[in-house]
Amino acid sequence: MTVAASDCIFCRIAQGEIPSGRIYADEELFAFHDIHPKRPVHFLIIPKQHLASLADATPEHQALLGKMLLKAGELARNLGLQEGFRTLINTGRIGGQEVYHLHVHILGGPEPVGPMVSG
Ligand code: AMP
Ligand code: ZN
Repeated sequence: MTVAASDCIFCRIAQGEIPSGRIYADEELFAFHDIHPKRPVHFLIIPKQHLASLADATPEHQALLGKMLLKAGELARNLGLQEGFRTLINTGRIGGQEVYHLHVHILGGPEPVGPMVSG
């Protein structure tokens, strides 16, 4: 699915045009709380640059993808998830992706997150 950056809700969040529960930002990444948290802690890390999904990543995104995962661990620790957390990337229709701007979900809290997939 192709979405112009100006029409992309996560681009607009990263640019500060739409308010969000911001956790972290630097020149390449933006992290914010999920608006419909599935666990007591549920936040998203996105690249500021529009990239529709993991399936659209190319070798030029290698460092960015690595940076996103490193930042996931760092922010999870900062938010108290010392005992672990779930990281999740939904890709495309089959993967259940709803927002076509790459994002990593980080989920956690006092209780185990549960089975990797249901059913
Ligand atoms: P996915 O199914 O992986 O594309 O997940 C998209 C996620 O974005 C969902 O968990 C939504 O709750 C979350 N979301 C959608 N709009 C917003 C928003 N404006 N602020 C924060 N999270 C959002
Ligand atoms: Zn975008």
